[in-house]
Amino acid sequence: MKRSLLLIGLVVALNAPAFADSETANQGTTAVSFATAGNPMTVVLDARQASRGLMFAHLAIPVRPGPLTLVYPKWIPGEHGPTGPLHVLASLHMSAAGHALQWRRDDVDLYAFHVDVPAGTSSLNVDFDVLMNAEGDTMATKNVAIVNWNRNVMYQANTRSDEVFAKPSIILPEDWSYGTALPNPSASGGRVDFGEVTLETLIDSPLDMGRFSKRIARWSSGDATAETDIFADNPQDLHIPPKLAQAYANAVTEALALYGARHWQHYHALLTLSDAIGFQGIEHHQSSDDRGPDDFLTNPMKQLGSGDLLSHEFSHSWNGKYRRPYDLQQLNFQIPERTDLLWVYEGMNQYLGDLLSFRAGIRDPKKYPEYLAHIYAAMDQEPGRQDEPLIDTTTAAPWLYSSGGQYSSLRRTAGDFYTEGELIWLDADTIIRERTGGKRSLDDFLHAFAGPPNTMPKVVTYDRAQVEQLLGDTAPYDWHGFFTRYVYQVSEHPPTDDLARAGWKLVYNGTPNEFDKARTSARHTTDHWYSLGIRLTADGTVRDVKRGSAAWTAGMSPGMKIVAIDHQAYDADYLESAIKDSTHSKSPVSLLVEQDKWFGTYSLNYHGGLQFPHLERIKGTPDMLAAIMAPHRPK
Ligand SMILES: [Zn+2]
Repeated sequence: MKRSLLLIGLVVALNAPAFADSETANQGTTAVSFATAGNPMTVVLDARQASRGLMFAHLAIPVRPGPLTLVYPKWIPGEHGPTGPLHVLASLHMSAAGHALQWRRDDVDLYAFHVDVPAGTSSLNVDFDVLMNAEGDTMATKNVAIVNWNRNVMYQANTRSDEVFAKPSIILPEDWSYGTALPNPSASGGRVDFGEVTLETLIDSPLDMGRFSKRIARWSSGDATAETDIFADNPQDLHIPPKLAQAYANAVTEALALYGARHWQHYHALLTLSDAIGFQGIEHHQSSDDRGPDDFLTNPMKQLGSGDLLSHEFSHSWNGKYRRPYDLQQLNFQIPERTDLLWVYEGMNQYLGDLLSFRAGIRDPKKYPEYLAHIYAAMDQEPGRQDEPLIDTTTAAPWLYSSGGQYSSLRRTAGDFYTEGELIWLDADTIIRERTGGKRSLDDFLHAFAGPPNTMPKVVTYDRAQVEQLLGDTAPYDWHGFFTRYVYQVSEHPPTDDLARAGWKLVYNGTPNEFDKARTSARHTTDHWYSLGIRLTADGTVRDVKRGSAAWTAGMSPGMKIVAIDHQAYDADYLESAIKDSTHSKSPVSLLVEQDKWFGTYSLNYHGGLQFPHLERIKGTPDMLAAIMAPHRPK
């Protein structure tokens, strides 16, 4: 939006109705909220026992006498699915004026609870226990806890979440501190009362807390600030190297340069460092819920592999929260989201989060070609792409995010629209640069898409046509045909000309790719995907087999455990040397495997040696990747 005149016309157009017809628009929001500005519901979260995995929610909800339905949030923004965790809700108790009321769960919508409100009642007490931890969903450890308010509230059914008002409070464990973007905190003893907010803002404002914490101011200008609030299981993990802290500060100025404006006032990157909680990132307007392992800040390999975590979520404040697909944005948390446009929301953001991490110096910009080789090869050699277009992965995202199971390379995964999205948006960037003789880039599109003027958090929706229109304004091109080819139709390969346009080509050789290595070492896995066609866990158990590869042809399958290689006990290093030696050998690689209680021998007729992807410069061409990844922030 360097072209601010365009913006004035655009805002009107972009605020076009989010719904196809008025019937759909009203669906699910037919009720008027009794919790209003000035008479909000109160939410007191007693978190004093968080370290044993328990919190206690005490709500007082304005009501009217008669039948009432309360709902527990189901569709969670940023998680892109019906992931509201019903398993955390226990010991639900409703009462009015000291009298217990019998509630009943709806027998079709399990997120809805019915109760009859007695005459003369204006406020309903709703109390429940919040069970913080489940398998694969750890929200609290001895020293750290994450509060996602959607887990701790119920609200009047069929209301709009921007018309339900709430006044949240938290009672902290002794000696713990907290971080959140919630406004106007007022602390007394261990209790913190926040200002009144809409339900939409409450659920958009997670709170991290912990025994060991560190606040790092990253940026300020006038009365606007950006900071990182870190909470660690172990105090020694808070010692961020000064150079890395500077790079994280740079990421703020890089993002401001990328977009040209901001749509937040006080931004809090909330970061937990805990192996028990694990890896996750969820975006919000003025904060992000970032979860890294213990050594996320102190182990350079972790930064190399996942150094885009904070910048990815930060970029979402513009792309995802401020600018949002028209059919993803919903009026309350029970209405299903449609996720087809995640190829913009997440796909473009994967490119931008990576780009910011390299431009800021969180990762070395010289390593971007190696990173690209890593993701290009992964997408290019995924068998499922031969039948399934990328749009199917975004449309199915609410289910794909949580799908486990074998042969994920045949089914494709939710990760694909991130990874392939990055390649598609890199291609778009190189097309803009080439067609404008280097005068414009995707940065110019982003200024128009999510840039000036600065605003407070708000949502401006878009559709596919508007994205293509804005790209066309940045650089004329058949953008509709471009996305049809790479997103909406089966595409045999990811964009094939972006690397060449940028002055690089993909090659395979026996040297491991640095990013493959960072990923496999973080996950304790071994991959020989581009040679034998298998992915393994540390103990030699097969995670996936690539269709058409030597391992596939030999009949191997996920779940098999390699016991011996050419009659020698399994060892990751020995497998590597067997693959290396395959070039000189006429005999196949022989694997003894255990499958359940059965043993079998599989002969892999492979003679290509180790194969790992890299990018190589095309001589005599300009290096566009260096220009893209160079710092853009004002010196
Ligand atoms: Zn994202």
